[in-house]
Amino acid sequence: MLTKAMPGDCCECGACCFSKSDTYVQVQQEESLALAKAQACVRRDGALFLRMHEGHCAQLAHADGDWVCQVYRDRPSACREFERGSPECLEERRLKLALARGLSDRLKRAGR
Ligand code: SF4
Ligand code: SF4
Repeated sequence: MLTKAMPGDCCECGACCFSKSDTYVQVQQEESLALAKAQACVRRDGALFLRMHEGHCAQLAHADGDWVCQVYRDRPSACREFERGSPECLEERRLKLALARGLSDRLKRAGR
């Protein structure tokens, strides 16, 4: 189920959920049970990571013009600990916001 429980700014941003790496967000074993239903994890060289799709986390969805995390309540600690407004957040926005906005605009035009 989609959720809009993400902080408002994040729903308009989504930048830190984008990466071309398929080992972008590591998932701890104990976190993977809650994510199993969404098939959110993949194993690489014995470690678990969030599954990626077309340059972003596969759990990042687009609904009513906003980005939403489909596993927000069960997102791994790496996502929970990433602080909105932190230097790391600002750097992610600097590097990837245009990419996220471009895809959001294309999806909006397609009615998604
Ligand atoms: S980069 Fe910052 S503002 Fe954007 S989604 Fe991530 S935490 Fe939210
Ligand atoms: S689990 Fe949610 S917050 Fe974490 S990278 Fe994926 S879409 Fe973003």
